Amino acid sequence: MALRAQSVVGYSRHRRRAARVPSRHSMKSLLKLLALLIIVLLVVVVGRTFLLPSKQMGKLPYTPEALDSQQASRNLAGAIASPTISWEGGGTDPQRKATQEAFAGLHAYLEKTFPQVYAKLEHETIGENNLLFTWKGSDPSLKPILLMGHQDVVPVETGTEGKWTHGAFSGDIADGFIWGRGALDDKMTVVGLLQAVDLLLSKGFQPKRTIYLAFGQDEEIGGMEGAEKIAQMLKSRGVQLEFVEDEGGFISRGLVPGVSAPVAMIGTSEKGYLSLELTVETQGGHSSVPPPESSIGILAAAIRRIEKHPMPAHVHGPVGEFLEYAGGSASFPMRMVFSNMWLFGPVVQYILESSPDSNATLRTTAAATIFQAGTKDNVMPSQAKAVVNFRLLPGDTIASVTEHVRKVVNDPRVKMQPLPGEAPAEASPRSSAESPEFRLLQKTLAQVYPDAVVAPFVFVGGTDSKHYAALTQNIFRFAPMVLESEDIARIHGTNERIGVGNFARMVEFYSQLMRNAAG
Ligand SMILES: [Zn+2]
Repeated sequence: MALRAQSVVGYSRHRRRAARVPSRHSMKSLLKLLALLIIVLLVVVVGRTFLLPSKQMGKLPYTPEALDSQQASRNLAGAIASPTISWEGGGTDPQRKATQEAFAGLHAYLEKTFPQVYAKLEHETIGENNLLFTWKGSDPSLKPILLMGHQDVVPVETGTEGKWTHGAFSGDIADGFIWGRGALDDKMTVVGLLQAVDLLLSKGFQPKRTIYLAFGQDEEIGGMEGAEKIAQMLKSRGVQLEFVEDEGGFISRGLVPGVSAPVAMIGTSEKGYLSLELTVETQGGHSSVPPPESSIGILAAAIRRIEKHPMPAHVHGPVGEFLEYAGGSASFPMRMVFSNMWLFGPVVQYILESSPDSNATLRTTAAATIFQAGTKDNVMPSQAKAVVNFRLLPGDTIASVTEHVRKVVNDPRVKMQPLPGEAPAEASPRSSAESPEFRLLQKTLAQVYPDAVVAPFVFVGGTDSKHYAALTQNIFRFAPMVLESEDIARIHGTNERIGVGNFARMVEFYSQLMRNAAG
């Protein structure tokens, strides 16, 4: 053995010496080889840029419904005027009473506004304020579809009331917009779907496949009394669904770098939710004789370690799929990059990590949101508590994230547990963008929004659709409205509004989707 090892060493020494003084001939062939490699690489990179098949459908023929957009706008404005506010933690007695009155008002208003829908569809109230409409299909062998939205809205932030150009619950229509809380989240879906059904009814349309419209009462505070109750009811009736369509993505303009066309972002998954409470207990005492490490110092160091060691990024996960779809419509240099993620993946990851928005689509994020310790300036606090909120990328689990945090913190003095009183949620499964159900959405977009590029993505927030996970594999999160970056701040913010034309096209989309899915 020793001899053989020696001979190997001797051989390599000889080789090294030879390599140090290359002949002009071998240097030339080395350069030639290098040049050849670069050419091959270039051919592959450029070839893939041009030859990778597009994931888009292009424009498809379509006859728009004749919709009275002014009437549709008034219908939405009337619904916005009911302040169906979900209060975090349940709210005070007067707040709860006002919300209950608002729901009663909204329900009476919808029935008065859409008499045809109420007359021809089965409708029921589930739980306190949830609405479920059933439009029976003529072919019971086909699985139903469920189109959903939520009736509740978030409150107006105290102190910002005066900044609203039009009152948040005035239901004003002015300057080509319908103003108020719920215009973008999510009354435009509730009224948009009812309006679409109304439109199809007046054309004599009869669905082959059953269509459910499901409107929850409390999406903004988790949906446990809302969508969860509707989903349980459907499950108890043995319903399995072809697909579910909820809010989530939208048609973004100017938000995807390098892509000038509007991008219809369809959420095929959504992130999970976990809050971990971290606690450090030490002996308290007087601050005149402090120990070398305080509970605050120990906990702060633990949090810093969590921030410095994030969960791994997955550039070939949902974000890779998004780029596969959107990349084909990007400018040439971007298209070259997106078509060759096998080569440029690390560069793309580096760029995406540099912005919080895109970083959130790459990995499970950690956000330290609460830190509590100490009550007096001359007393060592015996306890420090913090909460870190994680948003789980599909693929990571509550268990794997907790384990990661334990490893990174690596300090037995830091105790951790899920935040009491809050239910963590695993990330949703990923619905397939290659499925016929996704293609149906894509086809509808190719008809109603022919200029839009369609791309699946991971929705980083939460939606009510997660409650329907047991009823179908196909859950899509997409509100068919066009938004620019300045509109996004209006969601849950000040001066929420939707354009009259924008809303009318939503109705067109929903009615066409029903025709495509159930016609
Ligand atoms: Zn919403």
